[in-house]
Amino acid sequence: MLIIADVHGNLPALEAVLADAGSVDEIWSLGDLVGYGPHPNDVVQLLRSQPFRSLAGNHDWGATGQADLSVFNADARAACQWTDQVLEEETREYLVGLEVSSVFGSVHVAHGSPRDPLWEYLTNVRLAEINFGYFGTQVCLVGHTHVPITFRWREGVHGVGAFSASVPNAGDAIDPGADRLIFNPGSVGQPRDGDPRAAYAHYEPATGRFTFHRVAYDIAATQAAMRAAGLPERLAFRLQYGS
Ligand code: ZN
Repeated sequence: MLIIADVHGNLPALEAVLADAGSVDEIWSLGDLVGYGPHPNDVVQLLRSQPFRSLAGNHDWGATGQADLSVFNADARAACQWTDQVLEEETREYLVGLEVSSVFGSVHVAHGSPRDPLWEYLTNVRLAEINFGYFGTQVCLVGHTHVPITFRWREGVHGVGAFSASVPNAGDAIDPGADRLIFNPGSVGQPRDGDPRAAYAHYEPATGRFTFHRVAYDIAATQAAMRAAGLPERLAFRLQYGS
């Protein structure tokens, strides 16, 4: 299983991930297929040509008239409006039909958090701790922050648990064991953890193991397409820093 999140219309990044990941049974996306990037239709079309499931993210809603654009910052809003204008009808219908949270296989999935699937950013252990109460499976996958992280809840004696967070490095295996996890595989199309390479994960349902990966892609090609489309310069610039 290939796990991706926050592709954000970045076709060169998605193509690099698909090539690096090799053959997979199915692709699971945690939302924000579009917004920010210059290739919203191509990204959705390429993914839908394969065994693929996705959730909706806040930008998928913003680009299809389902979210109030005043909640986005100026650059994100401009990118949502640009995307709305260029979306082909088939892409739009697909995005509008996406659920905001679900269970894929035996894994709970939400774009932001189990408690507030479209909007909450799970950025720290305290927020993660609260959110462990909002899903019933052992493992939950989220995106939205564009920062890879694993939150772990280990049950202690008398029901007292211990919560921890760790940041995965490329190549790391993440095994739940007897713990509960909330795992964010980072962003394919707009990483924000200081590493500009596309981030993704593999998942083996039989063992429960996730493996975290990074892959370089042609950032200049995406930036050139963004500039040609008239998307905000800051959104193109940030790609080369992963910020
Ligand atoms: Zn996003």
